[in-house]
Amino acid sequence: MRGFGFAEHGGPDRARFVDIAEPVPGPGEIRIRLRAASFNHLDLFTLAGIPGVSIERPHVLGSDGAGSVDRLGDGVTGRRTGDRVLINPGLWDGTCDACRKGEEAYCRNYRILGEHTQGSTTEFAVVPARNVHPLPERMSFEEGAAAPLVFQTAWRALRTVGSLRAGETCAIVGAGGGVATAAVQVAKLTGARVVVTTRSQAKAERARRLGADEVLVTGPDRPADRALWQWSEKRGVDVIFDSVGAPSLPLSLRALARGGRVVVIGATAGAELSIDVRTLFWRQASIRGSTMAHASEFEAVLDELARGRLSPVVDSTFPYEEAPQALARLSSPELFGKVVVRLPPAA
Ligand SMILES: [Zn+2]
Repeated sequence: MRGFGFAEHGGPDRARFVDIAEPVPGPGEIRIRLRAASFNHLDLFTLAGIPGVSIERPHVLGSDGAGSVDRLGDGVTGRRTGDRVLINPGLWDGTCDACRKGEEAYCRNYRILGEHTQGSTTEFAVVPARNVHPLPERMSFEEGAAAPLVFQTAWRALRTVGSLRAGETCAIVGAGGGVATAAVQVAKLTGARVVVTTRSQAKAERARRLGADEVLVTGPDRPADRALWQWSEKRGVDVIFDSVGAPSLPLSLRALARGGRVVVIGATAGAELSIDVRTLFWRQASIRGSTMAHASEFEAVLDELARGRLSPVVDSTFPYEEAPQALARLSSPELFGKVVVRLPPAA
């Protein structure tokens, strides 16, 4: 079958349509006929080649997908052919100590669909039945494909790892990425006062409409740390959600309140930095890392999606043939939300 991915690692110009074998569901697995997929920055890292991760090539990109149940492996119950579903892209083994405690994101063999395995930008995906969830009725396939990775990431990072509580202040660094649009909503739902920093006036407007209490447009004359410090009336911010990495993390640390937490969920603009360690103990601050989510956290996200209290922001939707343009859109300075690829229905 045809999929969109790559045969050789490299930049976005290496991405192309490839042929891979049609997957067959084993015991306990379900095959999904995909109707929509979405891209994340992870896809660009996978395409470039992640140190320590070796994958089969050609490789199909895409961690997020929604579609209909196509075929059930032996022993699968509770799902029927044709059911509208979405996929939880976090893959755990279900057998290690962490999994037995319900801490699936700590699984020793944790993998992500489309990073370690063939992805969702194709006709069929096979995943364990426990990764297949009913698509809430109010959601289209495109929305179903836009939600899973970013909302579980934002949920766990803010609520569990960041210990964000109602009444606290929460800053989201950067407004345009899919995960930032999810984080604004999760932080508001938690009852926090939410501030977003962005360099773009246009994105500031959209972040406000999404529910941010304040948006600070930053730039060379107004760095994010100073803007946040002023906004918080020199108290600092309780939780800062940072996916940018090296350029922003030192600023985030300087903008923290006493006892504040920076939660790092990505490093889209650089991975190595030096920090002033004194900031950590003076402020009694923490830097915490978070990735993906436990199964129970994913269930909580699904519940909020079904109730309409969380809703994915779709930046743009591309037809399958334009998957290369969709992937390129991830790097656009105008990006606001998720980039979705619509997949053709069964021939
Ligand atoms: Zn495990």
